[in-house]
Amino acid sequence: MPKVIILGSSNAVPSKDHENTHMVIVGRHRTILVDCVSNPVVRLEQAGVDFNDLTDIVITHFHPDHVSGIPLLLMDMWLMGRTKPINIYGLHYTLDRLESLMGFYGWAEWPNFFSVGFFRLPESEMAFVMDNEEFKIFSSPVHHMIPTIGLRVECKPSGRVLAYSCDTEPCEQTVRLAGGADILIHEAGGNSYGHSSAEQAGEIATQAEVGKLYLIHYPTGRFAQGNLKEEAGKTFLGDVIVATDFMTIEI
Ligand SMILES: [Zn+2]
Repeated sequence: MPKVIILGSSNAVPSKDHENTHMVIVGRHRTILVDCVSNPVVRLEQAGVDFNDLTDIVITHFHPDHVSGIPLLLMDMWLMGRTKPINIYGLHYTLDRLESLMGFYGWAEWPNFFSVGFFRLPESEMAFVMDNEEFKIFSSPVHHMIPTIGLRVECKPSGRVLAYSCDTEPCEQTVRLAGGADILIHEAGGNSYGHSSAEQAGEIATQAEVGKLYLIHYPTGRFAQGNLKEEAGKTFLGDVIVATDFMTIEI
């Protein structure tokens, strides 16, 4: 059964038990990392996923708490003798900067480096990301501080749909992206510029008529506050689950 493993659930300031928000979608043939932070090889190992099985990486936006693990991951794959290519998807804004970042690390000079395919996504709603035997994925721009995408993942074997808001204020684009989804993973960073509260995430889940709402990218550790589940429950009558690190969601 395809699944999503939450590799981190915190907002930009991680804590002992909560890494920055990122996740991996695991199917039989495809293993898709959504954002890449901290120490990816260790994180994936803790989740029981072989980092060399990764086939695709989707980068939602170019904030350090979503992208900073890429140089280390690519270098570790190279050092471990990877030969098979990997695909990286993101907006032009994101991938232009990622390529510049790798340029600072001098990756063009790394001998026998495996091939990395860059797939630049248009900044338009329901943009096509990938379609393979297991997953059909679309992206839509959401409302964050810099160009950012949310994702809609249609899982072919189960017929189920998972949507991920990424970092965003409440917006219509997320409602349409998540329309009728079985699962919506929505950020709950707080009611502030570029982010949403748990209550606002609940409103979006209600408008999109999703089955279950998972809250992610919330303040943790000494910054944790309030009862997120209760807050989202004021505006969404379905199941609300607070996502935690290494939680597995079957899709
Ligand atoms: Zn961000």
